[in-house]
Amino acid sequence: MSSGAVFEMEPCRGRVAIRSGKNFRVDSPSCNAVVTPELSRELEHVLDLFGRNAKRKCQNIVGIFFKPGIFGHHKVGRAADIYRVGGVGLDVWKRRWDEAWQPCSRIRNANERRRLLDHERQTNLGWQFYKTLQTYGRWAQPYGYPIQLFGPWTRSEGPWKPISDFLLNAHRDHIHVAK
Ligand SMILES: [Zn+2]
Repeated sequence: MSSGAVFEMEPCRGRVAIRSGKNFRVDSPSCNAVVTPELSRELEHVLDLFGRNAKRKCQNIVGIFFKPGIFGHHKVGRAADIYRVGGVGLDVWKRRWDEAWQPCSRIRNANERRRLLDHERQTNLGWQFYKTLQTYGRWAQPYGYPIQLFGPWTRSEGPWKPISDFLLNAHRDHIHVAK
């Protein structure tokens, strides 16, 4: 997160590191995501859901990589930035997504198009992770600000489709959540 939609809060004590769970593994050093207990609970809940689904499909425990942020909610431990899912960067997942979608606009047969897109939805862990965060996470929405979930898919999938170019560019390679 850098600016524009950043919201600042009072510092809060008692921060904790986000730890690996039964259905997901934190690949990054624990100091990369030291957050409020509230955010840690919310993230661990969503990560568990995501990990369970991923496990069902590929039978591997899915790894998540955080990097520390600096601005806004990060200053007080109320935000986390995720850069890699399943060992692959979110920018790479997004590029794969775009590459799958582009030729689809040229495919006339609707069933064939649906089949290709379904395949990408079923196998793109980056997109699946974003959608899990969007569907099952309860993120901060400070008064007058958008829901604090930003990432490479925000413009196409929401929740804040009018995201500025500036903010979208700032989240091409990671997902930001705040609570
Ligand atoms: Zn951030």
